[in-house]
Amino acid sequence: MFKITTIPGDGIGQEVMKPTLEILETTNANFDFIPQEAGKECYKKYGTNLPQETINSCKESDSTLFGAVTSIPQQKSAIVTLRKELNLYINQRPIKSYTNPEINFTIIRENSEGLYSHMEEDNGEETIAIRKITHKASERICDYAFRYAEKIGKKTVTAAHKANVLPITDGVFKTAFYKIANQYPNIIPNDYYIDAMAMYLITKPSQFDVIVTTNLFGDILSDEGGGLLGSLGLIPSANIGNDNGLFEPVHGSAPDIAGKNKANPIAMILSSCLMLEFLNMEKEAQNIQNTIEEIIREGKIKTPDMGGTQNTQEMCDEIIKKL
Ligand code: ATP
Repeated sequence: MFKITTIPGDGIGQEVMKPTLEILETTNANFDFIPQEAGKECYKKYGTNLPQETINSCKESDSTLFGAVTSIPQQKSAIVTLRKELNLYINQRPIKSYTNPEINFTIIRENSEGLYSHMEEDNGEETIAIRKITHKASERICDYAFRYAEKIGKKTVTAAHKANVLPITDGVFKTAFYKIANQYPNIIPNDYYIDAMAMYLITKPSQFDVIVTTNLFGDILSDEGGGLLGSLGLIPSANIGNDNGLFEPVHGSAPDIAGKNKANPIAMILSSCLMLEFLNMEKEAQNIQNTIEEIIREGKIKTPDMGGTQNTQEMCDEIIKKL
């Protein structure tokens, strides 16, 4: 029995969580889903966007499934706090097109520091955000990226940074990258400035296998990945630490389409597949991924973001039917 905390959150987070749990129920695995709250609606009810009970539940569970939350100005981000509380220092975002073989790479984003350190101030004259980059976290994330590339049989790992403008902080990241690269002689290391990387992802996506980068750059590149695939509704992500995992779609709560049954549930469902892999249920994960791949290739059932007219539930029903 696996204890799984589920946090649907706000907006389409609610709409994509429900079908995901229905699909997980079709596997042979035995799940105990523990629903918890976070986000804007939670804030309205309890005066906090992340109750301690939710944090405790995540810590006590084998994994957490997280939908999406709407951010609230002046409140610390619920997801950033959860990543920190659970020490989930790796953010893994596979960008794979099922129709264009040129696009198949994974972004490994440092998840614990960078510009997400919650160190921002306004002293009346100046506003300042602190970007913290450490040797330890940089080496740790680069090591994960090389290990991951080796595990999935990829040949290259590319670092994205801006060490020409940020020679101290991104100098540390770049140095850590090449130090760790020495320990993986079978993998080819390469690095680009983040702006060049943003361009090459569009012009030559096939040259990338695994990309490793700092927190904000990784966030931006993953949305660019969403653009490459045509929709953010297709990209899953895993937040991983030493002994816990939290799995969430790359997209946010999408207030523009919330409540309209239009959201694409695939990103959330694929995130649950990353959870199945984390829990050593590779076969079950592969089965769901293959089914989604088949549906995308067939192109008959498509939510509006994919250029179709089917709704969230119809996509989910098709996946369950094929499974
Ligand atoms: P956040 O700050 O939480 O990232 P956001 O509004 O900036 O929120 P998203 O919520 O990810 O970003 O939405 C960006 C765009 O992508 C919106 O137009 C939204 O409708 C669309 N979008 C995001 N997720 C999906 C999805 N699952 N299905 C369809 N469209 C989506």
